Amino acid sequence: MQRILLLLILTTTTIFSQSQTELSYYLPQNIQLNPTIPTPQSVIGHNVGEWHVTHDKLVEYMKALANTSDRITIEDRGKTFEDRPLLLLTITSSENHKNLEAIQFAHIEATESNSANTENRPIVVYQGFSIHGNEPSGSNAALLVAYYLAAAEGSEIDDLLKNTVILFDPSLNPDGLQRFAYWANTNKNINLNPDPNDREYREVWPGGRTNHYWFDMNRDWLPVQLPESRARIETYHNWLPNILTDHHEMGTNASFFFQPGIPSRTHPLTPQLNQDLTKGIATYHAKALDKIGSLYYSEESFDDFYYGKGSTFPDINGGIGILFEQASSRGHVQESENGLLTFPFTIKNQYTAAFSTLEAANSMRKDILEYQHSFFKNARTEASKEGKNAIVFGDEKDAAKTYHLAEILKRHRISFHHLKSDFTKDGKNYKKGYSYVVPKNQKNTRLINAMFEKRTTFEDSLFYDISAWTFPLAFNLDYTETTTAKAGNEVTDLKQHKGGVSSKSEYAYLFEWHEYYSPKLLNAILKKGLRAKVAMKRFKANGKSYDYGTIMIPAKNQDLTTTEIYNFLNETAQESHITITAVSTGLNDGIDLGSRNFSNLELPKIALLVGDGMTSYDAGEIWHLFDTRYDIIATKLDTKSISRADLSRYNTIIMVNSNSGLNDSNTKKLQSWISNGGTLVAYKNALKWLNTKKLMTIDFKKTKLTAKHISYEERSDFRGAQVIGGAIFETELDRSHPINFGYKNDKLAVFRNSTLFINEDKNSYNNPIQYSKNPLLSGYISGQNLDSISKTVPFKIGKIGRGKIIGFTDNTNFRAFWYGTNKLLMNAIFFREEM
Ligand SMILES: [Zn+2]
Repeated sequence: MQRILLLLILTTTTIFSQSQTELSYYLPQNIQLNPTIPTPQSVIGHNVGEWHVTHDKLVEYMKALANTSDRITIEDRGKTFEDRPLLLLTITSSENHKNLEAIQFAHIEATESNSANTENRPIVVYQGFSIHGNEPSGSNAALLVAYYLAAAEGSEIDDLLKNTVILFDPSLNPDGLQRFAYWANTNKNINLNPDPNDREYREVWPGGRTNHYWFDMNRDWLPVQLPESRARIETYHNWLPNILTDHHEMGTNASFFFQPGIPSRTHPLTPQLNQDLTKGIATYHAKALDKIGSLYYSEESFDDFYYGKGSTFPDINGGIGILFEQASSRGHVQESENGLLTFPFTIKNQYTAAFSTLEAANSMRKDILEYQHSFFKNARTEASKEGKNAIVFGDEKDAAKTYHLAEILKRHRISFHHLKSDFTKDGKNYKKGYSYVVPKNQKNTRLINAMFEKRTTFEDSLFYDISAWTFPLAFNLDYTETTTAKAGNEVTDLKQHKGGVSSKSEYAYLFEWHEYYSPKLLNAILKKGLRAKVAMKRFKANGKSYDYGTIMIPAKNQDLTTTEIYNFLNETAQESHITITAVSTGLNDGIDLGSRNFSNLELPKIALLVGDGMTSYDAGEIWHLFDTRYDIIATKLDTKSISRADLSRYNTIIMVNSNSGLNDSNTKKLQSWISNGGTLVAYKNALKWLNTKKLMTIDFKKTKLTAKHISYEERSDFRGAQVIGGAIFETELDRSHPINFGYKNDKLAVFRNSTLFINEDKNSYNNPIQYSKNPLLSGYISGQNLDSISKTVPFKIGKIGRGKIIGFTDNTNFRAFWYGTNKLLMNAIFFREEM
């Protein structure tokens, strides 16, 4: 048996190396190729599929193509976190290149006028590859697709390039692609080994799927918080492509998937014609894959619900998004249920789907152009029915969060206005200068609905991703729909608030804790060695009200002179966009500045647990939050380094969601560190682990579920319907508790994608955050889970010795766009001693 397997391996290795990586394996036969166009091999030094292309080689090749082909131009649209270029190639006939601006103008005009003008207008196709870095067949196929588009000759390619403008994005995730190429290449044998247990197929934590800060970038098309998405979304709105393809990989034992996905899970704001056209395009993929003998399927998995995915985002923007999923060889060749799956074979399928897309685009050009035109025409009709209807949003206490939501609208070309005068509705004040007005009568009115709506009824009860993302709730901003708010000028030059110190003081300085960047400012102050205190009660100073959590910095008895303090505060306040108020007396209405109710603050020294056992997304979100928004340095402490680390260097350790927890000796070490005064902030399943290890006693609510009248076939849907894939719930806050300092409302929307429910404590003061009786604000939850969540708590504190554990059942930092609950984590860190 072993001999047969070995023989099999040797044979495949031979086949693979000698023919599977030749150009002839991938490209159609009998096609004339322009010899002046460099082949991939001539630039990157190896055949496509022989090694995993590194991003730098990919860049080199794309530049070489642009240099030699008059069908290709190249632009650098910015940089990833690791300073890799975000390239875009524009590929079309040399004739079209000469008129590209006019083509682009006519294309956009058709979305804004009453004429579709489809006669001689090229269709625009955005082809994007490998947004997940360890799904590399896409980017490796991109070498061949670009080569063929540059080098092929004859009437067929001429016709295609005449009728098509291709926006070609060879690597949607350069940092991830590079990380994975390193892994697959450094573990490759000369004698290829398809054993799935080989290190080649088993990446180490966190893997190459994500970007630098471990984000899944294929969830960021709507929130646009990452540089890769920002570059891409700008191209998207500049061009409004008709078709956008997103080339992925899935499990090794699968085959090939192309959309449509599961029909009942299409977002109701997406027109039916979008799905019909997707199905029409699918016939081209089927035909092409039949021809090369590849197995495939569609409509049985994946969906078009969450608009933050690449294959769904176009569906609310007049385009057609298409997802491709290829079974992954991960490394160079792997055993699978469908026989040996070679890397070149996966590349060939992606190549094939890229060209079946282009063929469909060319053949269905008029219909698809017509579809986009009608999408926007119908949207205009809907928009005009809105009349003076507008969404007002803002927070007079938090200009930064208001700014960041406005920034997203701007990136999506949604226009908005300043608020002309202060406006009050439903007890909420919208202050001029701190609020914006978004008229619904505008081009992207459907996108506005997709971003602002709340939805609680659904055709299906299963979701591939989150079921709700209502932006003003994610940002914890007051918002309302109204026809009476007065809009001022349109905002063309969006600016952050200027911070600073009101004047120099010889006594003390104060700033409230509501602003988003207040933790950044406080951290800078404590890092400088200045003493600062937090107000445990509300008070009035100089006629102005100060809320719980106000920060006070005494001007005297510090290591810096009063002038140095003033200069330092002024500079850091500007960097944090916060206004600091100088006061000249300690005598207040309420607690005075020398009161014991001003509690001393200590600089957080943070370790963030990463590595095996920890969820990399959740850890990455915190790393990104600290590093890019708050300038807080946290040590990424790998779980395998805990045993030799001196934990006394830290006063705060963060443990994100973890299903496995820590081993026994690390657990003991952590426990004694907490007993000695440390604060552990723990999330989600880490709480279950802490409860099991008896480090914290948590009264989880038990839910029982029995299947009644559910057939064997329905069993997985039945179980799936109990998953909370991501929905938004209302909590009630006790604002006097330090965990809630900085929140100005008594209610807070929180994100939840777990089914961990904690019963309320019998002492009400121990339930500072509690779900409302009927807490569902937006998204899907089963009836049973909705009953369960009512009046439970997502937050709990446990004590061990002199230290404590601060626990959250859900993620407060979801995907970098849940700005609204970041402060809960920052409160746990800065006010840990006050809880
Ligand atoms: Zn993927």
